[in-house]
Amino acid sequence: MAEKFFWADQIADDIIKKNPKKNIYVCASGITPSGSVHIGNFREVITTDLVVRALKDKGKKVRFIYSWDDFDRFRKVPANVPKEWEKYIGMPLSDVMSPFGKGSYAEHFEKEFEDSLKEVGIEPEFIRQSEMNKKCEYAEEIKTALDNKDEIVKILNKYRKERLKEDWWPISVYCEKCRKDFTRILNVENYEIEYECDCGFSGKFDFRKKGIVKLVWRVDWPARWKHEGVDFEPGGIDHSTPGGSYTTAKEIVKKIYKGRVPLYEFYEWVRIKGGKEFSSSSGNVLTLKDVLEIYEPEVLRYLFVATRPNKGFQISFDNDVIKIYEDYDNLEERYYSGKIDEKDKRIYELSQIKLAKKKPERIGFRHLITLVQSSKKISGRGEKVKNWLEKYAGDDMKFEVKDKIGKLSKKEKDILIKVRDLLKKNLDEKNLQNELYEIGRDDVKGFFQLVYRILIGKKNGPRLAGLILANKEKVARLLKDL
Ligand SMILES: [Zn+2]
Repeated sequence: MAEKFFWADQIADDIIKKNPKKNIYVCASGITPSGSVHIGNFREVITTDLVVRALKDKGKKVRFIYSWDDFDRFRKVPANVPKEWEKYIGMPLSDVMSPFGKGSYAEHFEKEFEDSLKEVGIEPEFIRQSEMNKKCEYAEEIKTALDNKDEIVKILNKYRKERLKEDWWPISVYCEKCRKDFTRILNVENYEIEYECDCGFSGKFDFRKKGIVKLVWRVDWPARWKHEGVDFEPGGIDHSTPGGSYTTAKEIVKKIYKGRVPLYEFYEWVRIKGGKEFSSSSGNVLTLKDVLEIYEPEVLRYLFVATRPNKGFQISFDNDVIKIYEDYDNLEERYYSGKIDEKDKRIYELSQIKLAKKKPERIGFRHLITLVQSSKKISGRGEKVKNWLEKYAGDDMKFEVKDKIGKLSKKEKDILIKVRDLLKKNLDEKNLQNELYEIGRDDVKGFFQLVYRILIGKKNGPRLAGLILANKEKVARLLKDL
């Protein structure tokens, strides 16, 4: 059944209902910058962004935080990073050198994503967890976890096939010498931790003064809900299975941290359709930047806004792109004409980065396919069309006006002379198309096939009048010597 109200507004209502008197609502999102951020993860950020906007539209104050979990360990070398980076495995991502120049590994991938986010109008408050941890911001949450270790083990074991080992701790320690986490905890007393490392180093430190401790993910997540007072956070399938990290985080935040469980929204992974090889520049991962080469920011937002996060959808790179742009233009048309229902109105509004007072001037994607292949310079949407033609479009969408005519029969020649003479009349597209039909009246199909064959060497192509007008000089030159 179709929902009456827009999904982000429903979630915003639920957040307010849970805690009606709260002064500032906190909506959170985050990811580990272990490599280029996949477009699937973008769904998490935009889900949060839309809920934030819905809350603001209801007159609420909101803090939108985005956690870079860059104190997580470097686990695996992705495809676009040199193999020798293996030597950094076990270090916090924030301490690994960038393989692409200045700064750290984490910073490189953070910046890549932050730049693309800005382009689609999403500007949260970024929190680098490496900085928080290094400043010992979570010392009290760590202390609570250590003090309640047995209780945490009990909660986690409920959902595990194999029980946690006797020497399990809710934290890991990064060695002061080699900076890796191949360490074992020997003793914990109050705020002091004693450990030894595979590199041979052993030491003792106070975790209020030295930020080299990290809570394990299943404890880290609820600890941060409590620390930041989070009211809403979406999560993907990896966290959402029964007994998964969301299940245990709910119990831990209540029982161990005496905090509140935020409202949660499961988001489904997005699928990709069409497009043979995705740019190797991003390590075979499809990024937001890749998608923005083809989709205008508003059209991209529209794709995510229109589908509730718990439902799957696909981002197309094949000829469906044309249809998606047409659907978007149609929605825009209806929005500015006022002939639109409440739900679609909301979808359009939230697809915008900044809502324009007047309907923006746009050229349809399909028409641009003809224009950009006619050596016309077109910026904005034209750039997207150009990228699409180069990388993903089917051959049926590509053409080039030829500069030589092959052999013709007398009859074919006579027909083409009529077309040439028609061009001298300087007709507009509609009238030209009508006149073309008039010439081909006796055999419309044969006529169009002939003209397409002569002009672009194909049996069919874009609307003929549009094609001719976009390539007027070239066509005139081609037909000149008949
Ligand atoms: Zn070490």
